[in-house]
Amino acid sequence: MNDVTKPISAVAGGVGADLSCRRCGYNLRSLAVDRTCPECDLPIELSAKGESLPDANPHWLLNLVAGLWTIAVGSGLALLQNAWTRWTPWGMPIAVNLGFSLLANFLVCCGILIFSCAEPGEFARTPITRFRKRLRWIVVILLAIHAGCVAAFGLIGPYHAVTMSATLALLGLRIPFAVYAYGYLIVIANRIPDWFCATAAKSLRIIFLFQMLVQIGTFLVLIWPGSGTAFYPGYNFLWNIYGTTYIVEALVSLMLIVVSIRMAYKIQRARRRALATWKASLVQSGS
Ligand SMILES: [Zn+2]
Repeated sequence: MNDVTKPISAVAGGVGADLSCRRCGYNLRSLAVDRTCPECDLPIELSAKGESLPDANPHWLLNLVAGLWTIAVGSGLALLQNAWTRWTPWGMPIAVNLGFSLLANFLVCCGILIFSCAEPGEFARTPITRFRKRLRWIVVILLAIHAGCVAAFGLIGPYHAVTMSATLALLGLRIPFAVYAYGYLIVIANRIPDWFCATAAKSLRIIFLFQMLVQIGTFLVLIWPGSGTAFYPGYNFLWNIYGTTYIVEALVSLMLIVVSIRMAYKIQRARRRALATWKASLVQSGS
C-alpha cells in the first residue's frame, strides 16, 4: 500500500510528475507549485497534496458522504426485511418481500453509484478509474437483472426456466459485485485513513462471498436434488435455507450499516478540514 499522505514530488519548485488539477483536471506537470491552475485558477498546492481525504476536493467528498448514507438506509431496509421474514411469527407476504428486497437493493445500488462518481482530476485509464467504471457497470446490470427476476417471478412463476436462469445470473453477478464494491470501499477507507473501516470492509468482502457460495449451493439443490451432499458433506438443506443464509445476510446488512455510517462520519470530518484549507488557500491566492 502506498503512503496516501505523501505529497507529489516537486522538482526545483515545479510539479515533477503528471498531476491533474483537483477542480478542472488540467495537467499541472512542470508548473511551479506556488502558482495557480492556468485553466481554473485553483492554487496548485491544493492539487499537489497527498491522496488522503482531508486533502481531496470537498465537493467530491460530499458525494461520498451522500452515497454512504444512501447505502446505510438501503442496508437498514434489507435488515428489516430479513428480520420480518425470518424472525417474526407472521412472516412477510411474498409480493411484499420481493418488492422490499428490490427497493433495498435499489437504494444500496444508487448509494454505490453516488459513492463511486469520478473524483475531479482523476486521470483516465489508471487502474483505479478502470476499477471504478467496472463497478458502476456491474451495479447497473445487477439492478436490471434483479428487476427482471422480480418481474419473471410475478408474471410467470418461481419455477419457470426463465425465472431460475435470471436468479442464477443474479447470484453469479453478485460475486464480481462483491469483489468490486467492497474493493472500492477498501480503497476509500484506506484514504481516510481509518483502520476500523478498512478492516471491516475487508471482512465484509469475505463474509459476502461466503454468503454467495451458500446461496448458489442452495439454488443448485433446488434445481438439482442431491447436489447438496455432493458439494458439502453433511449438508442439510433446511438448516442451510432457514439458518445460514438469513444469519449471514443479517450480519452483512448490519456490518454495512455500521461501516457506512462510521465512514460517512469520518469523511464528513475530512470534508470540513478540506473546506477550511480550500477557503484559506483561495483567499490567499485571491482567486
Ligand atoms: Zn484547474
